[in-house]
Amino acid sequence: MADMTSPRTSMPERDPRLRRRTFEEVSLGYTEEMAVAEANRCLQCKHAPCTAGCPVNVRIPEFIAKIAARDFEGAYQAITQTHGAPAITGRVCPQETQCEAKCVRGIKSEPVAIGRLERFAADWHMAQKPAFALPKLPANYTHVAVVGSGPAGLTCAHDLAQLGYAVTLFESFHTVGGVLVYGIPEFRLPKTIIRRAEADLRSLGVQIKTNTVVGRVVTLDELMEEGYRAIFLSTGAGLPKFMNISGEGLAGVYSANEYLTRVNLMHAWNPDYETPLIKSRSVAVVGGGNVAMDAARCAMRMGADEVHLIYRRSEAEMPARAEEVHHAKEEGIQFHFLSNPVAVTNNGSGHASGLTCVKMELGEADSSGRRTARTLEDSEFTLKVDTVIMALGTSPNPLIRMADPNLNVDRKGCIIVDEQTLHTSREGVYAGGDAVTGAATVILAMGAGKLAAQSIARALETQSD
Ligand SMILES: Cc1cc2nc3c(=O)[nH]c(=O)nc-3n(C[C@H](O)[C@H](O)[C@H](O)COP(=O)(O)OP(=O)(O)OC[C@H]3O[C@@H](n4cnc5c(N)ncnc54)[C@H](O)[C@@H]3O)c2cc1C
Repeated sequence: MADMTSPRTSMPERDPRLRRRTFEEVSLGYTEEMAVAEANRCLQCKHAPCTAGCPVNVRIPEFIAKIAARDFEGAYQAITQTHGAPAITGRVCPQETQCEAKCVRGIKSEPVAIGRLERFAADWHMAQKPAFALPKLPANYTHVAVVGSGPAGLTCAHDLAQLGYAVTLFESFHTVGGVLVYGIPEFRLPKTIIRRAEADLRSLGVQIKTNTVVGRVVTLDELMEEGYRAIFLSTGAGLPKFMNISGEGLAGVYSANEYLTRVNLMHAWNPDYETPLIKSRSVAVVGGGNVAMDAARCAMRMGADEVHLIYRRSEAEMPARAEEVHHAKEEGIQFHFLSNPVAVTNNGSGHASGLTCVKMELGEADSSGRRTARTLEDSEFTLKVDTVIMALGTSPNPLIRMADPNLNVDRKGCIIVDEQTLHTSREGVYAGGDAVTGAATVILAMGAGKLAAQSIARALETQSD
């Protein structure tokens, strides 16, 4: 009989005092022995509630049983029946609210560390099997365009190429990966993993056109005229929001997107690059999601003496992954819960010198079940900071919909699709990922990419019958 109270196997991590100044990966992954020990904690529940908790229904008990039997490649193959990038999702999925939230072991003690095991199987596979030509169906010479190379676009391009389609992937940046490259920092998701995904696409024959802004350089009409029989729009939600408070236009105030893009995509952290970035001594990051955690932890690594995180609700309401909050605290980020900025102060020469905030209290739950935050009177306080980073959420970039009047969007600017097929209001054009849902998760974007590939293939097969 399994000991239901045994704790999960901990994963080795870099010492917080050392890692807070480096971009090397924080979590070091399980050894084989650790993975087998953790896999043996799985109860192999027949009804697999964990699988139901996974947005793409990974066959979790099956892959964990294979790890327990030391069939690590078999475990990787079982996961990739449902999605192709476990090295990414094992590192960034919010497992605590998905698969692990449903784990029966979690009732009496800690749930099985499903994400860590997924990462282990993926890393084992990558270490043992160098990139090699992936199997694919014979070429059918039907051209499909995929616009945007984040997790949705990468997945769609991969699946269509495996089915034999001639896929071209368009990306506005100079490199592929979307948020996986420009947003999520190296210390959480090493970029070698994204380069491997890119190499896989190339080995499948996908043409990659970077530095190409669809809607500017080439329109959807022109792509259709060039012979693309279907288009998948996976352009993400990269448009930052601001608070509209006084002083937001001062030097030293950034959107998290801009700050993270400079640090990650443009390598400001690497002395070999000349990317300009303010040298901050004291930083305030506003927000409570993964983006806020990444911005705060990057600011610390860029050399700030102190980094404050300002969030208007309490810790329990924070949308960030629990592990990121834990790591941020370990690294010395100072959390100010129930606090809301009202102004950025000016040092007299146009540069931020502080962030004035008020204290909040939580009231009744609103119609969405979320408790509303109310301002407490006479509660103003000012943090002395020279840099303010706004991480308040993002919305879809309006460029594509402005470039094509036939594309219907909702009032938030998200592209409207048929939920079953991801087909948009425009014939032959599909959309998925954050461009449709608004800012969401990597696994949901991958799921959308997979569904779009299936819908596109079905539609094109029907047309050629
Ligand atoms: C800093 C940060 C941290 C995050 N952390 C997590 C996490 O830990 N776990 C998690 O699950 N989710 C996380 N997320 C959310 C997750 O990354 C997104 O939900 C996911 O990347 C969405 O995928 P996507 O493919 O829809 O879009 P994106 O990843 O945004 O990719 C869209 C791509 O389209 C390109 N593009 C845009 N417009 C055009 C155009 N007109 N022409 C050509 N190319 C274009 C963009 O340059 C970009 O490369 C995080 C997000 C951010 C910003």
